[in-house]
Amino acid sequence: MIYCVEDERNIRELLVYTLETTGFEAKGMADGEELFQALSCDPVPELILLDIMLPGRDGYAILKELKKSDLYCDIPVIMVTAKEEELDKVKGLDGGADDYITKPFGMMEFIARVKAVMRRSRKEKNELLRCGALEMDLKRYEVRENGTPVELTRKEYEVLKYLVENQGIVLTRDQMLEHVWGYDFIGETRTVDVHIRTLRQKLQEAGSMIETVRGVGYRIRT
Ligand code: CA
Repeated sequence: MIYCVEDERNIRELLVYTLETTGFEAKGMADGEELFQALSCDPVPELILLDIMLPGRDGYAILKELKKSDLYCDIPVIMVTAKEEELDKVKGLDGGADDYITKPFGMMEFIARVKAVMRRSRKEKNELLRCGALEMDLKRYEVRENGTPVELTRKEYEVLKYLVENQGIVLTRDQMLEHVWGYDFIGETRTVDVHIRTLRQKLQEAGSMIETVRGVGYRIRT
């Protein structure tokens, strides 16, 4: 679902129509109020097209509000501007828009940009690794369990990532040493055990998902 926030009815309807004929689901909104109303009761959209000159809150203010929100900050936004000067202003902002398009624009270009932003955002979504209640954000090096951040050292993080990438598979201590510490690491396999122990302490129920396979190594249950 793509939301089109645009107060000029003709343009709004044209955007929605163009998106729908290209195979997207789209919904038009006339201002920020309608946008936040829709956000609060419908599933989160995949993309928001946001006009800048709007009655009430303008596009800048709306973008800022979206990016401040935990729920909506990941929704990609394409800003739609009427003038080049506005475009410069948007670009100058640290607003977090994913792309900008200047009116009037050709529908082919418009669709190409929409597709490009959606492709990028889908790719980023794949940079989340999941295993039970665990979620690893590979771009930000963040780990959450049931949504709560877990503070890990870099090596603990790498060990956990290796386990989660291979969930259900037994990894030997030597494999883990080689993968996480590198070929040159001259250490004892006990180093792995120490990191597994601290991981189990820092994680809640996900800690018990890490199984010791006696005489071999470790595995995280799926
Ligand atoms: Ca407008």
